[in-house]
Amino acid sequence: MSQIFKNLVVAIDDNLEEKLQLLVPNFSEYRIQRKSVDARGKPHFVYTVEVFEKNEKAPPISEEHFQIKKVKFNFQPPIVIGAGPAGLFAALRLVESGIKCRLFEQGADAKTRVLHINQHWRYGKFNSRSNVCFGEGGAGLYSDGKLITRIKSPHIPYILNRLVKFGAPAEIEYLANPHVGSDKIRRLIPKIREFLIASGCEIFLNSKVSSLLHKNGNEIYGVKLEDDREFNSNHVILATGHSAEDIFAHLKTIGVFMEGKSFAIGLRIEHPQKLINKIQYREFAENIKLGAANYRLAHHDHNTGIGVYSFCMCPGGYVISSISGENTTVCNGMSNFARNGKFANSAIVVSIDHEMNFGKDVFGGMTYRHDLESETFHFVKEKGNPKTIPVQSTVDFIKGKNSINTTTSSPSGVTPVRLDKILPNFIRKKIIEGLEKFESQMPGFLSTDSQLHGIESRTSCPIRITRDKATLQSLSHKGLYPVGEGAGYAGGITSAAVDGVRAAEAIIGQFL
Ligand SMILES: Cc1cc2nc3c(=O)[nH]c(=O)nc-3n(C[C@H](O)[C@H](O)[C@H](O)COP(=O)(O)OP(=O)(O)OC[C@H]3O[C@@H](n4cnc5c(N)ncnc54)[C@H](O)[C@@H]3O)c2cc1C
Repeated sequence: MSQIFKNLVVAIDDNLEEKLQLLVPNFSEYRIQRKSVDARGKPHFVYTVEVFEKNEKAPPISEEHFQIKKVKFNFQPPIVIGAGPAGLFAALRLVESGIKCRLFEQGADAKTRVLHINQHWRYGKFNSRSNVCFGEGGAGLYSDGKLITRIKSPHIPYILNRLVKFGAPAEIEYLANPHVGSDKIRRLIPKIREFLIASGCEIFLNSKVSSLLHKNGNEIYGVKLEDDREFNSNHVILATGHSAEDIFAHLKTIGVFMEGKSFAIGLRIEHPQKLINKIQYREFAENIKLGAANYRLAHHDHNTGIGVYSFCMCPGGYVISSISGENTTVCNGMSNFARNGKFANSAIVVSIDHEMNFGKDVFGGMTYRHDLESETFHFVKEKGNPKTIPVQSTVDFIKGKNSINTTTSSPSGVTPVRLDKILPNFIRKKIIEGLEKFESQMPGFLSTDSQLHGIESRTSCPIRITRDKATLQSLSHKGLYPVGEGAGYAGGITSAAVDGVRAAEAIIGQFL
């Protein structure tokens, strides 16, 4: 009989197998079910492991849980708009159930998209359809590929299982903080595409949906592309992400119900990774088994209800320009699987309460975000090189001083500007308050070696497309399934993929 050991502590220099040998002498095999790093005190690993006794053979991992039942579906193929995690996983779940579907993506295939992004970062040649936010793979293609999510969903193991099948490292299924890295994501997305096509999904890349077809006021019956081609279906999954401003404008014109949603805005801080390792792991900082250290920081002001927190931390990563529209400046973070870059970055953002700031103006948050991104662009442009990311040293930001030129990880280069002058006063003040609190939580955080980059404005969607809890269809339009981050129901790769799967299941459920 196998035994499961939970919370098994293994010191960084100890060997797991030696420890298991003491617990189950001459064990035959073991399977790690969970592994995390605990950096408190002397850093150590905490495992949950299933161990098989001498002469016992580990049974094959049951795939039963991940098998999908086929259904009979004799209608026009469902349509999925957007090939980000939500759209790709919606399409995947549909085809695995035997339902052929059509997937439309405005941007290029993952490989070509990499070229387009490099052209922007190196030469300032921006492609409005194919960039860090748009194209096959969605916003997650250039990311840290963190798969951690706060949501609890029975679909998470399915998503991790499929990602591993398409080439993600097997460890994502048991690590407490799994991540894939941009380099590996770029290779696995084309494999998802190949599988979808082989399973009956028609994929239309470089094909922008310009409008939703609707009749009788509120029934969606298909989509129209920019080149005027029309495709009919009574099931349209809208997974266009939170940067598709034109799609939100279109939804408004046809009367789709939406509401304003709270979001967050701020800057992205970067430190030398060695400094973060030193703060988190102290004298163990150089131990390669621990990898690049991360952190998560938060400060909540109970009087105002406004929070400042770190978000999307990328150990060993790069601060990247991630615009999706002309004449704007936006930054974000990415890293490769090895997380072996010299810097660590993370967003430091302030919560923006929709009701408090924009009242009943549904588009208030989106307009605010856009205005701040274009204002930042003009600041940078004035200094000469608009493709670069504005930067200011953290100390100078707090003191309200100019920074001299600095070295950062950004592949598109940086321009020193007064970020403290660009940010609205209340955001600036809250960031300073937060940074000072973070220094007390992580002494050394306010190092003279740290830089702030602007503008971190795409942490989540400022709008929600309201939908029925059970059918996942729009509250105003039958046949429209708004999903993922752009619909306001997800905040990251895994939760967006889960939402896509849920929409597919809502459609499949009608035919069981
Ligand atoms: C640089 C960066 C790093 C990130 N790092 C992480 C991370 O480490 N971990 C994490 O969990 N999350 C991360 N995120 C967030 C994550 O990528 C998103 O939460 C996730 O991609 C949202 O998935 P989605 O499918 O809902 O939308 P998206 O990924 O935004 O995909 C929407 C797709 O729809 C397409 N589209 C839009 N309009 C149209 C149209 N009219 N016609 C056809 N196609 C259209 C777009 O081109 C896009 O490909 C990061 C984001 C960025 C930008």
